[in-house]
Formats: sequence, C-alpha cells, structure tokens
Amino acid sequence: LTLSGNSSGLHVVHIAAEMAPVAKVGGLADVVAGLGKALQTKGHLVEIILPKYDCMQLDQITNLKVLDVVIKSYFDGNLFSNNVWTGTVEGLPVYFIEPQHPSKFFWRAQYYGEHDDFKRYSYFSRAALELLYQSGKKIDIIHCHDWQTAFVAPLYWDIYATRGFNSARICFTCHNFEYQGTAPAPDLSYCGLDVERLDRADRMQDNAHGRINVAKGGIVYSNIVTTGGHGLQDTLKMHSRKFVGILNGIDTETWNPSTDRFLAVQYSATDLQGKAANKTFLRKQLGLNTEDTSQPLVACITRLVPQKGLHLIRHAIYKTAELGGQFVLLGSSPVPHIQREFEGVADQLQKNNNIRIILKYDEALSHCIYAASDMFIIPSMFEPCGLTQMIAMRYGSVPIVRKTGGLSDSVFDFDDEKIPVELRNGFTFARTDEQDLSSCLERAFSYYSRKPMVWKQLVQKDMQIDFGWDSPASQYEDLYQSAVAQARGVAQT
Ligand code: ADP
Repeated sequence: LTLSGNSSGLHVVHIAAEMAPVAKVGGLADVVAGLGKALQTKGHLVEIILPKYDCMQLDQITNLKVLDVVIKSYFDGNLFSNNVWTGTVEGLPVYFIEPQHPSKFFWRAQYYGEHDDFKRYSYFSRAALELLYQSGKKIDIIHCHDWQTAFVAPLYWDIYATRGFNSARICFTCHNFEYQGTAPAPDLSYCGLDVERLDRADRMQDNAHGRINVAKGGIVYSNIVTTGGHGLQDTLKMHSRKFVGILNGIDTETWNPSTDRFLAVQYSATDLQGKAANKTFLRKQLGLNTEDTSQPLVACITRLVPQKGLHLIRHAIYKTAELGGQFVLLGSSPVPHIQREFEGVADQLQKNNNIRIILKYDEALSHCIYAASDMFIIPSMFEPCGLTQMIAMRYGSVPIVRKTGGLSDSVFDFDDEKIPVELRNGFTFARTDEQDLSSCLERAFSYYSRKPMVWKQLVQKDMQIDFGWDSPASQYEDLYQSAVAQARGVAQT
C-alpha cells in the first residue's frame, strides 16, 4: 500500500459513501471533497475511502488503478476478498473498495435505496477499517460521515483498537439526522459487532423496540461529533462535551462563476453581463419563452424528498407563473411516488413555456441553472445545513428560503430591520403554509422589477460573501488537534 505519513500535519482519513464529483447524490459529496481539499491545503495528509460503485463517474478519477494487494475482511462469519483501487479525485488520494462478495454490494447501478443498504454499508465500514489496519500506518483522525459509515466508530473501538490499531481518534459527522440507519438488532452482527454488548439504551439501541441505530453508535463511540438534531437529542445531550455544530462551506473552486467550465459565459460580480448571457442561453436551451427579457428566472435544484418542502416547491412553481416569472426545477427523487407526482406536474405544465421541470440528476445543468437564475427557492421543512443557498449566492441568484436550520444561519431577510443591513442577503419566510411563501416571493419580485439597481447591488453583495471551506476547515482542524492532543496526553499518563 502507498499510504504515507507526514510529520508536520495530521494524517486524516475520511470514510464516506459519497464524494463529489465521482459519487454524488447530495450535499455529503460536496462536504467530503470540499473539507478534504481545504484540510489538504492546510498541510494535512488527507485520504478518502469510498466504495467502488459501478455507477461512479470514472472519468472524474485520474490514475485509477487496482492495487496489487487483496484485503480480506470479515462479514457474517466468513472472510471475503476486496480489491482496492486507487486514484486521484480533485487532487485528493482516494481508495475505492471493491468487495468480492456474492451479493455484489456496490454493483447495483445506484448509490442508495437498496433493500440491503444496512448490510452493504456495514460491510464497507468494516472493509475500510481493515484496509487501514493492514496498511500499518499511524493515522491521527478517522472521519466518518452519516450513518452509512458510522459503523466505523464502534468497530474501531471494539475490534481494531484492541488489536493495537489505536493511534486514531474518531470524528463522526452526521449531515442529516433524518437518516439514522436502523435495522433489527441481530443485523448488527454481520460486520462482527457484538449485538448483546451494544443493544443497550446507552449504546446503540434504537428508540423503536428491537432495533439498533447506527447513527447513535456513531455519537456514542466517536471522540468528536459534529452537527445534529432529530430524535437523538437525549443521546446528543449526554455526549454534548464532544458535540460541535459547524456550518459547512462550499468548494469555491468547483463553484466559481468566473472559471466554471460548464457555463456558456464566465462572469463575476463586477461583470454581470455574463450572468445575463447565461440566462439567455439557458432559456433557449430549455425552450423557455425568450421574448420578455424582464421576467425573473426562479430556480430550485434539489433532491425531491419530504424534507425539502414538496408542497411549497409545487406552490412556488404556480405562484411564479402567476407573478409573471419563469421557473426551472431540477430535481430527482429516490421515492417512486414522489417522482411520479412531479412527473404529473411536469405533464400538466408541459405546454407552459415559462416553466421547465427536469426530473433527473444533472451536474452540468445544475451549474448552468445556478448561473442563469435570478432567484433560488429553498422551502425546506428542516435543513441541517444546506449548500444550495450558498452556491446560489455565489452565482448571484438571490435565495428565498424558509427560516430553518442552516438556512436561517446563512440567509437574512432583506427587509428585516433587526438584522444589520450588511448581512441582509435574501428573502425568508417562517411558516410552512403556501401564503407565507407567496408573500415572500411577491416581495422579491417587487424588488426585482421595481428597483433594479437595488437588486443588482444585492446580487453583487451575495456573490462576494465568503462561503469557502477555509474557516469551517479551521474549526475541524482545531477539533482534530485537541482530540489528538488529548489522546497523547492519556497515552503519556
Ligand atoms: P442535501 O444534501 O440534503 O441533498 P444540500 O443542499 O446539502 O442538500 O446539497 C445538495 C447538493 O446536491 C448541491 O450541490 C446541489 O447542487 C446538488 N443537487 C441536488 N439535486 C440535484 C440534481 N437533481 N441535479 C444536480 N445536482 C443536484
């Protein structure tokens, strides 16, 4: 193996189910790549371990090759071989684990949503740790993300630390506590964890009878836990000493309108002509009406799941049309009945040339929509952090968001006199009913059409806000350093 140490910085390994742009479903992918790059820039040795999915974007990996080692990992009473591939993604060294298990865990033509997700990711977590263990390197931080790799925390302390692989401290980030990874308690044993030991209220037992909760295990068995909510308040409270909320950043290289290769024309805050050109281009590309240049273009780019406020997204489409604007929705749903519902809306509005509903995942198109749009709508029911509001602002699309979670930490209403003028950067509404969203949209439309100079200044201001990873990565760095220092202190006593 080629894992190598670095004397000055920390050796940090992220174990995750997603990473942009090779394997992206949502914000998790952006976070793993963005945080990884920022930590690398700060002088740390950062490596990533991902499953080798058949549906990955292989063209986003440079120097992909299979290593000349086979890692054997435990699963359900047997040892299975894993091929290990390496490659570079966004300048970061990545290891891809390809299990040789008959269930073909990552050969499913999709990332998630399989009946055996719990098994697949418990397998991956165990194999990833086995890879690190066999590499023999002295790792400082193992950072796991979301329930899919939260297995790493109990596996590390219960199985690997006792074998002498114990230099690392574990950081667990739960990007979205809506997904906690629960299963009947006995399923935990597949990856070698001791169900009897862990099926306890203060360990991994779920609130639902007879079930086990992996995100809970991530909290209990990690040294550092970041972000939170959703039903695990008691467990989080108990572990509050190690629990920290950090607002994510965005990767300002990937998301940079002045260099973005997906755009028809690059632009910046001092050259908004380019933004207008992107709008014209997208309207033509999507077959939207191009005669009336005064119409604002409202966009929404999202996974279509209940968390995102589906009834309000639907309402925003109709309300925008009523107000004389144009609307583009780029959304994909892992839930078949939601996908069908939006297909119904799309059919109904097919002939309306002010509305386009595009139901798929499309990275390139997402960049063009951020660039072309004037307003960006995010009516989430809850939002642990949210990245699209930050990306939208960087591209000069003014966010219209529901005041919740990370959205209310990053978007401040233009008309709210309690907030310092320099922080006001978008439009917000509080309630989950259609009326509150309607009046918020009306306010935004009114500025757009009646006060174009004020609007332009708002766009320019939004584009200049620093949403980069530098500051959040420094917060992670501090957490890592103190966990490592604490561990060394303990080791010396
Ligand atoms: P979540 O992680 O809950 O999906 P975030 O706001 O944290 O939400 O991150 C969403 C990320 O996924 C953004 O980078 C957004 O541009 C991207 N995204 C969501 N849906 C799509 C889609 N249909 N096509 C392309 N990109 C999408």
